[in-house]
Amino acid sequence: MKHSITFLFLFICFLGMAEYTIVIHGGAGTISKKTVRTETELEIRTALSDALKLGDKLLAQGELAIVVVEKVVMFLEDSPLFNAGKGAVFNHEGRQEMDACIMDGRDLSSGAVAGVTNLKNPIVGARLVKDSTRHVFLSGDRAQEFCLSKGAEYADSSYFFVQRRWDYFQKVLEQENNTKGKNDGGAAYMDEGSLKFGTVGCVVLDQSGNLAAATSTGGLTNKKYGRIGDSPVVGAGTYANNSSCAISCTGTGEYFIRGTIARDVSALMEFKGLSLDKAGKETLDKLTKMKGDGGFIGVDKKGNVIMLFNTEGMYRGYKKSSMDQPVVQLYQKE
Ligand code: ASP
Repeated sequence: MKHSITFLFLFICFLGMAEYTIVIHGGAGTISKKTVRTETELEIRTALSDALKLGDKLLAQGELAIVVVEKVVMFLEDSPLFNAGKGAVFNHEGRQEMDACIMDGRDLSSGAVAGVTNLKNPIVGARLVKDSTRHVFLSGDRAQEFCLSKGAEYADSSYFFVQRRWDYFQKVLEQENNTKGKNDGGAAYMDEGSLKFGTVGCVVLDQSGNLAAATSTGGLTNKKYGRIGDSPVVGAGTYANNSSCAISCTGTGEYFIRGTIARDVSALMEFKGLSLDKAGKETLDKLTKMKGDGGFIGVDKKGNVIMLFNTEGMYRGYKKSSMDQPVVQLYQKE
């Protein structure tokens, strides 16, 4: 009798465990077998898979979506492989200025930082802005001072330095000098596999049905004049709303800002009643027509997943509670 009661209790607990889903990206661009070195490919696949496993573990424990997106993006920021946190790209002055945004689909609360240089994890700064101020978006040194005063970890500029990013920056500068000012006002867009983009993002549906999104980036190589991209802009590179979806974007940020790409996916679901897949495809078409490069990941409240892009590839992956292993993909055809 006692055994059957225990069994019944465990069975009810099992039935009560709701489904969850996590989706991540590590940037889109000219990512193909030709441009990505085999060792780098393996490292990237491992990093994405480890990030998904971390998120999966937290979600299985019942963690909230907003906590999971922050922790997973921190993990990706700590990896030198991506253009976020350690390994961020260099701006025109040779500095690494980083942007990040986090959004909670429960109440649309959000926080963002832009142009920070010494926060070890810019996404932690974004979370602090969301939770500890009346504001949404803080920029530059004063944003950084605020985040440090609230306990964010400081990192010296040398911590973020990654040689291959620096070498790529030197090549871009050289190309710019050769083309005399044609790229003035923006980044030079060179085709060099994984070095072109590399922003990271995470969207999550937790066991309680909450959605959240987070995106972190160093922006575009050789960016000028305090340029800020789409990643930290709510509705452009990042968006989450429990009644529709959570989205994180990557690509040529100017187009994502002008096209309000992340918000468009949500709006098409809210106002036109489209599915996540249809809303995502319609929005990607719009981006392509605008001549913007890149893609985005998304999840809805039913756990449907999209990973859409118009570039050769996008580092991406997802894991649902019902799956044994995460799915990780880099190229167009996989
Ligand atoms: N979207 C980012 C930006 O424009 C760059 C990227 O996704 O790699 O800042």
